[in-house]
Amino acid sequence: MGIIVQKFGGTSVGTIERILNVAERIREEKERGNEVVVVVSAMGKTTDQLVNMAKQISQQPNKREMDMLLSTGEQVTISLLAMALNQMNLPAVSFTGWQAGILTEAVHGNARISNINTEAIQKQLSEGSIVIVAGFQGITEDGEITTLGRGGSDTTAVALAAALKAEKCDIYTDVSGVFTTDPRYVKSARKLLSVSYDEMLELANLGAGVLHPRAVEFAKNYNVRLEVRSSMEKVDGTAIEGEVKMEQNLVVRGVAFEDEITKVTVLGLRNNLTSLSTIFTTLAQHHINVDIIIQSTTEDGTTNLSFSIHTNDWMETLNVLENNKDYLGYEQLDAENKLAKVSIVGSGMISNPGVAAKMFEVLAEQGIPVKMVSTSEIKVSAVVEDKNMLKAVQALHEAFELGQHHSCKKVSRQ
Ligand code: ADP
Ligand code: ASP
Ligand code: MG
Repeated sequence: MGIIVQKFGGTSVGTIERILNVAERIREEKERGNEVVVVVSAMGKTTDQLVNMAKQISQQPNKREMDMLLSTGEQVTISLLAMALNQMNLPAVSFTGWQAGILTEAVHGNARISNINTEAIQKQLSEGSIVIVAGFQGITEDGEITTLGRGGSDTTAVALAAALKAEKCDIYTDVSGVFTTDPRYVKSARKLLSVSYDEMLELANLGAGVLHPRAVEFAKNYNVRLEVRSSMEKVDGTAIEGEVKMEQNLVVRGVAFEDEITKVTVLGLRNNLTSLSTIFTTLAQHHINVDIIIQSTTEDGTTNLSFSIHTNDWMETLNVLENNKDYLGYEQLDAENKLAKVSIVGSGMISNPGVAAKMFEVLAEQGIPVKMVSTSEIKVSAVVEDKNMLKAVQALHEAFELGQHHSCKKVSRQ
């Protein structure tokens, strides 16, 4: 008998009817003879609603109080789900993050899990109970409630699976697996049978919201068997694992995208050895996350620097740069909002030159100007205007033959 961790996301527990459906899925797992630990999200759009309420009071609510507020969403689901299981004569107990022993670092709003004391969960499991844990939350050493960042219930589930040495962690959601791109926007997106930890990490970091990036990090570091699957349909999902063979010998596995990107340009930066470190250290001290960086030297010997940030950080970035203008030593600032990043990801790129070239060719054919570029061994990202984002995704998805049309055609010709 092994331990299985099941995680059900917001849509999957969005109504009482769906909570009863989830209870049924848990019963099936239990009846297969497993010990079951379940992680759930807040019901439906509850977390968004809580955020909206806070915003009606303050544009920058106190971060501790924000965590106190947001952590309540999951607590509603755990108790209702435990009641539903009890009603089916299945012993079940609900735990908030701290009751489940989930310790985090002392950061509000985006805390990392630092340790899990599984004693309380183990005790309940050994007594035959199903344990239901509130996702997305933990507690600091000083007893403060923290949350793990939006989408963080995935991370609670995978971290618990690692700590409990579970056989498997199943992420049940409103799609039936990881697709070649977001199926909500691209109808021809195809479900992947499997995807490697590294590819999934890139996809998640580049905007594929189906898994929280830190969940993938945990799975990779602790070798957790992870599967993304549907909470509604009983079909195979997508396995996320170590080494994965390319299906159909394709070079690219998927296309990810995200909007709300701002490009900041610092013109006439003093050209000395420390000017770059000074500017990025100053931004880091204000917790501003910088993504792509481009620098060029001008004829008069100064440097022009462009970097991309999330648009949410734009006001703060502007303040930091303007308040430190003399210290940083630059002439002028410029910014471009309403940008998006479109990325292609696949481990096959390492050994196939010309992938980036093909991506730029496709974007050029579509008349889409590229503002910034970044690459790694297994991805190429292009920053474009956000009005062009979905057009770029569609075109790249088609050009790299990721869609189901292609594979269907192949089958029907045989
Ligand atoms: P949950 O509430 O279950 O955690 P999420 O909304 O966080 O669900 O994640 C599931 C959603 O992720 C899907 O509805 C889909 O729109 C989106 N998504 C983005 N990229 C992908 C992808 N490559 N494959 C599957 N789903 C994706
Ligand atoms: N309820 C949280 C959110 O909406 C965490 C999660 O669902 O994973 O972001
Ligand atoms: Mg999610």
